[in-house]
Amino acid sequence: MKPRNRVFADANADFDSARYVLYGAPWDSTQCFRSGSRRAPEAMREASYNYETWLDAYRVDLAEVPVCDLGDLSPEEGEEPLFSDLQSTQQEIVGAGKIPILLGGEHSVSGPAARAMPKGVHAVVLDAHLDFRRDYQGTPNSHACTVRRITEHLGVERATVVGVRSGAREEYEDARRQRLAFLPAEECRDAEGLRRALDARTGDSPVYLSIDMDVFDPAYAPGVGNPEPFGLAPGLVRALVVHLAPRLAGLDITEVTPDHDQGVTALLGAKLVREFLGARESLPPAPPRKR
Ligand code: MN
Ligand code: MN
Repeated sequence: MKPRNRVFADANADFDSARYVLYGAPWDSTQCFRSGSRRAPEAMREASYNYETWLDAYRVDLAEVPVCDLGDLSPEEGEEPLFSDLQSTQQEIVGAGKIPILLGGEHSVSGPAARAMPKGVHAVVLDAHLDFRRDYQGTPNSHACTVRRITEHLGVERATVVGVRSGAREEYEDARRQRLAFLPAEECRDAEGLRRALDARTGDSPVYLSIDMDVFDPAYAPGVGNPEPFGLAPGLVRALVVHLAPRLAGLDITEVTPDHDQGVTALLGAKLVREFLGARESLPPAPPRKR
């Protein structure tokens, strides 16, 4: 693990005292269209300094929330050592009773992260793509296979993909045959419907939330590896993060490719992390405002 010069904003706690442990996986070797997500952890750390520490919606000051930023895994040795480091880092965090927050990298890093989660956790994957290929371009560790790898560990009945609008014909056929639950983007209309659909699927299970940033419409998140039109709006995803926050066992943000926009997507990724922290730590609501 390489410590960074600047930690994620307000992540000033050491490992032992932290409730949340954040780290980066600067890995993008299978990004097939536009690469560059290896620079995403740094871009999201930089973007995090844009924001206030006070989150009024939750009455939380992030400066008072114990978050540790471990730095980044080293990608130099290649995929196998990186994935194995990632899984053991994730296991160490979860084993210490803390919540891991992983900054990708391409979406394939969510595979080893989910493998470190205990059985019984339900994976909610936000993604424009099904990511249900067995392998792609000669590797099972392609970012096009993420959901498949996650279901191999947690079980296909313990995964739900939200915001889907792209996949190969065989992926859709296979997903339907295996009864993989996925919500097409056009069915993700309002927060209340989305909350109901997710609760029906996940019950009160702990949730691992994996956010492939291409779930957003490219208007909001243009800096991703495979932009896909007709995506979700940020408010809807925020509502979902807030809803799931109390039972999140882990979170990752992947596929930000900082070279392909003006920093918008990294800003959104960093904000999602902060929204999660705020929602999870939130105090009872402030008294109602006078109208
Ligand atoms: Mn993906
Ligand atoms: Mn995707």
